[in-house]
Amino acid sequence: MNTEAFFKITYGLYIVSSGNGSKKSGYIANTAFQVTAEPPQIAIACNKDNYTSGLIQESKAFSISILKQEASPEIIGKFGYKTGKVINKFEGTTFLTGITGTPIVTDESIAWFECKVVNKFDVGSHIIYVGEIIENDLLEADGEPLTYDYYRNEKKGKAPKNAPTYIKPENEKTESKTFSTKDLGPKYQCMVCDHIYDPAEGDPDGGIAPGTPFEDIPDDWICPVCGAEKADFEIME
Ligand code: FE
Repeated sequence: MNTEAFFKITYGLYIVSSGNGSKKSGYIANTAFQVTAEPPQIAIACNKDNYTSGLIQESKAFSISILKQEASPEIIGKFGYKTGKVINKFEGTTFLTGITGTPIVTDESIAWFECKVVNKFDVGSHIIYVGEIIENDLLEADGEPLTYDYYRNEKKGKAPKNAPTYIKPENEKTESKTFSTKDLGPKYQCMVCDHIYDPAEGDPDGGIAPGTPFEDIPDDWICPVCGAEKADFEIME
């Protein structure tokens, strides 16, 4: 199987949320697609291990928020790389409560849909939920949606392990002995999302010039992919 071929399939990036009152959660999804116009229905594929999946089963409702292209690593880190079993993802997040009681993230989003579950299909590791849209809103008419391709190639993000598109690396640390140059020091890897900091490339979007050794990065710098702290990086050797 040529795994590179899978990256030619196009996807967006969304926050799918569900739950009620104090019991609510959400996750970063790349599969959300309109399946019919009449009635308006959207389908999502949700990993059974996701805390949110259980909340969708219980409440029979979910929401989809379309992330904007400039979505921050903080929101992607919070909803994509952490579990709702451990943290309340809605603390510090702007959201609405829908007709069904489901939370709807409006932070860093350009549009949202609230859906009630009308069908579901067990497809092994994931459940496909089909939802009928009962409410929606357009928050930014001119906003560009974040696509998975943009996230992967421009933001250098990787799919979290529960994503349908996650491809298990053949060797998680194949690059571990590759040093850019002796002067710049070793590469470091984010223990949360596997992003690799390469001193030769730096992190220009985060204000770190190419050629900056990891040790010289300010302590308040965060992972450009998931928002983890500098202390969450480990040396690759
Ligand atoms: Fe990270």
